[in-house]
Amino acid sequence: MQPFACGNCRSLTFFGDLSCLACGSDLGFERAAGRLVARDRAGEAAWTPCANRELIGCDWLAPAAGALCGSCGLTRTRPADGQDADIAAWRVVEACKRQLLVDLDGLGWTLAGPPAGDSPLRFDLLSSAYEPIVTGRDGDVITVDLAEGFDPHREALRVQLGEPYRTVLGHLRHEVGHWFRDLLGRQGRLEEFPAVFGDDTTDYAAALREHYAGTDDGSWRRQYVSHYAAAHPAEDWAESFAHYLHVRAVLDTARAWGTTVDGPAAGTGIAGRAALSCDPRLPVRHFDDLVSRWLPLTFALNAVNRSMGRDDLYPFVLAPPVLRKLELVHRALAR
Ligand SMILES: [Zn+2]
Ligand SMILES: [Zn+2]
Ligand SMILES: [Zn+2]
Repeated sequence: MQPFACGNCRSLTFFGDLSCLACGSDLGFERAAGRLVARDRAGEAAWTPCANRELIGCDWLAPAAGALCGSCGLTRTRPADGQDADIAAWRVVEACKRQLLVDLDGLGWTLAGPPAGDSPLRFDLLSSAYEPIVTGRDGDVITVDLAEGFDPHREALRVQLGEPYRTVLGHLRHEVGHWFRDLLGRQGRLEEFPAVFGDDTTDYAAALREHYAGTDDGSWRRQYVSHYAAAHPAEDWAESFAHYLHVRAVLDTARAWGTTVDGPAAGTGIAGRAALSCDPRLPVRHFDDLVSRWLPLTFALNAVNRSMGRDDLYPFVLAPPVLRKLELVHRALAR
């Protein structure tokens, strides 16, 4: 995500900022223009914040006064007023959903909620505190367990499942991948799917039962980006799709900040690849351009995270078969 300039004083501001730290102006994100607009204090210009601005801190502007923005408008079910814990989690999920939509906008796949848009995709945000809820996608509806927006719950699950990475944004990138599998398939963009991912019409429920009953011997690493990806070709696609969005988003951010990698002196290169340097500002012509920038950048950013005692930014290995899967995602999404 690129940084922004305050629409009033031009100070540095960030995606999601509701106000400018320098001049105090209220800020609203104008999605079509990709800019943070400052509220005109004289009240002369139209200022149409999302109807959810006060409730969950949505900073997007809406098509009309009192309306929901194009992101909140995609949410079909949300917590009832007064359910404070659920509303706090809803705030987290919506912030990640806005990031997801900007990811997709940047790839030319704009999903806009009513009344401005006609995307069939909808979100049900429900809490497993009251009934069994599984985060997943069914047809045109993505269901998110709001408990995932609660850090202790999500982190406990991550540890229990032995996952190196678990975030709400990661869930959304994964689930929208399932939805894109159908959409891209209908558009004839995924004819190579069986050759790359395998047959995803095989018994899904049985495959998942087998996956959760089995033990993790690590052998999946040679072919899959995550252990869960090995469960079924449909999950392999969704995981690969999510990772493609991870790669694009981080490289876009690095490009916007002019973050380049040059070195280090130690080490002569990555096995099979030439350089430990990259410049994400160079144009992307082929999928290989992404890969050759991604690897040095993640090595550097992982090292930066470790120097703060944090987990790796990108705790995954992209084996050659995984790169072929990401490459298919790349080509299928190309507009
Ligand atoms: Zn300002
Ligand atoms: Zn909104
Ligand atoms: Zn899935």
